[in-house]
Amino acid sequence: MKLWKTYLSICAVFILFNFTRISFAQEKTNIAPEQANHLVVLQYHHVADDTPGITSIRPNEFIEHLNYLADNQFNIVDLPSALNKIQNGQPLPKNAVAITFDDGYLNLIDVALPELEKRNWPATIFVNPGLLEKHKSHYLSWQQLKHWHNKGMAIANHGWQHDYWVRQPKDMDMKQWQAHVKDSILSTEKAIEQQIGGSPKMVAFPYGEYDSWLTTWLTEQNLIAFGQQSGVIASYSDFTALPRFPASGQYANLQTLAVKLKSKALPVDYKTLPSPLKANTQNPPQVNLNWLTKGKINAGQLNCFVTSQPKAKVTDKADYAIVVATEKLNTGRSRYNCTLPRNDGSGDYFWFSQPWLVE
Ligand SMILES: [Zn+2]
Repeated sequence: MKLWKTYLSICAVFILFNFTRISFAQEKTNIAPEQANHLVVLQYHHVADDTPGITSIRPNEFIEHLNYLADNQFNIVDLPSALNKIQNGQPLPKNAVAITFDDGYLNLIDVALPELEKRNWPATIFVNPGLLEKHKSHYLSWQQLKHWHNKGMAIANHGWQHDYWVRQPKDMDMKQWQAHVKDSILSTEKAIEQQIGGSPKMVAFPYGEYDSWLTTWLTEQNLIAFGQQSGVIASYSDFTALPRFPASGQYANLQTLAVKLKSKALPVDYKTLPSPLKANTQNPPQVNLNWLTKGKINAGQLNCFVTSQPKAKVTDKADYAIVVATEKLNTGRSRYNCTLPRNDGSGDYFWFSQPWLVE
């Protein structure tokens, strides 16, 4: 009996080992970026005329976005089920786009949500339970969120009260701070489950800020998470730091948004990317982009732009590209945004963004 058990466990280890090897090998060789499922996610906050310009889009501009999406054969998909399909290798509709709103502002019920309902289009609203329960005149209530959830909107996690999750306060040590952040996420999950009747298990980082300890923990918790760095989602993305294209304020411009909507995810190994948090000693920070495919891309044409700086220096090393800014990054949030023309004659781009947080 004992021998039999030992034999079984050896078999299990052998099968597991080979399975891991096979799936890793498939991951490396079978990704055809042109054929892969690609999902563009748009990020909005306020949809109103009288709110701060940087996080707002005017209602008439928002309707223009929706009309553009309809007129140009984009398919608006439910974000939780689209991510599930990507992770399980099931096909998405062509030109798939998901719409998200951060913070759950009350002004969404004026134009944004009714306009989506008219078109029978889903969206996701990321909420902060601690804020919506305290400031009823600013945020959608649980009752309103439940009403819109019943009409097809997903209600997801933006943390209890929109704290900075990476910038540790001086009066807390790292252990206390991490416990506070984890509690902010788990108590929000619990509130959504109780109030809405279920949670899509998706988190949007407040201010788009994240660090490696947080993404590791989110993986353990089986939670998917979004930053605010721009880019497109594919099966090879990091599902604990997914990109979105901001579409409010200066990013509401339809001409530039049109390019982003047609972009694909740059085929690099997202698991090897550095954490955004960088001390000033590593400034300007470097990112190595490890290509998942060779031959089908023109790595030499990679162009990387840096927040308020000239273009970054790109070194092509065949298997990977090294990207580094030419000047020190300012304190706070910055990004390297990289584009690469696709050589399929479409005139479209691969897109990649690396966020940085310099202390
Ligand atoms: Zn927010």
